[in-house]
Amino acid sequence: MKDKFGREIDYMRISVTEQCNYRCFYCMSQEENIELKKENPITKNEILEIVKVGVKLGIKKIRITGGEPLIRKDIDKILYEISKIKEIKELCLTTNGSILNEKIEFLKICGVTRINVSLDSLKEKKFKEITKTGDFNKVWKGIKRAMENGIEVRINSVIIDGVNEDEIINLASLTETYPIDVRFIELMPIGEGKRYKGFTGNDIRKIICKSKKLKNLKRKEGASEYYKLEGGKGKIGFINPISNCFCRECNRIRVTSKGIMKQCLNKKSTFKLSNIMKNSINEKEKIEIIAKEIYNKPEKHLFNNINKFEDKYNMNQIGG
Ligand code: SAM
Ligand code: SF4
Repeated sequence: MKDKFGREIDYMRISVTEQCNYRCFYCMSQEENIELKKENPITKNEILEIVKVGVKLGIKKIRITGGEPLIRKDIDKILYEISKIKEIKELCLTTNGSILNEKIEFLKICGVTRINVSLDSLKEKKFKEITKTGDFNKVWKGIKRAMENGIEVRINSVIIDGVNEDEIINLASLTETYPIDVRFIELMPIGEGKRYKGFTGNDIRKIICKSKKLKNLKRKEGASEYYKLEGGKGKIGFINPISNCFCRECNRIRVTSKGIMKQCLNKKSTFKLSNIMKNSINEKEKIEIIAKEIYNKPEKHLFNNINKFEDKYNMNQIGG
């Protein structure tokens, strides 16, 4: 369906848990969080019901995210059952890759066509410094297995001042060796992210261009603008929500792990979608309620006026 600004909304991102086995410093609070431990996430049945109602409103693509989605105990069932909904044309996953290697066979069975793996460093030590508990070699093994099994892999990297700018060239060069896309995502002032300074897409492009030939493919896919290195097998994407707001083309809505529907990444929301999924509300009413929320999606994010509009959540809670 279209929202009031005429944007076709056909993509739903669902965070299935805010728990994570990593603790990336710009994403999650580093302190022990008792609330997090008590998490009572949206149930499998609520997720499936939300997807089914979403489908009636034109949702065709689902991305499962988190926290770390693959650590949720019933993730296999969630993915499998969504994959059986024939109107869903694309089922994707965003993961830190920590247990990807063990899950590949199952992801294939579920028809997961594409995975985004977060990788901010290719150096074991730095990777651990960023993620606290992550093992680079395990993640890399999972990425390689995914590629061998015909699952399209996209690497997401956030470049932060003083942390990993020295890895821009090596990350970009992965696209020369492997048929994978590497996408540089600007750090957003959400939760912990507000405490750091990220590199813009333009900063990163300039650094790559100093030593490589980068061709603008003049192609946008969703939020990403794509480029290619000379002779590259994969593409390099830039997702620039801060320096080049792409809200005019936004086609997505989000559901947090607490079942709250978010019309926009930084818009405060208390609309508890999972409550609407109760049997006492008939399907027509459910569709009407959700349609109204989608219709009223804000025109653009308000990262420049963040104190007024933001949720207090970290990215692991919203689902990146
Ligand atoms: N755990 C999974 C992962 O790491 O891919 C999925 C959830 S994670 C929140 C999704 C993405 O959000 C990651 O690629 C991470 O780098 C990104 N992210 C976290 N905090 C961010 C921020 N403040 N600004 C931009 N991206 C952020
Ligand atoms: Fe976990 Fe992903 Fe956040 Fe890292 S970016 S702490 S892996 S949710």
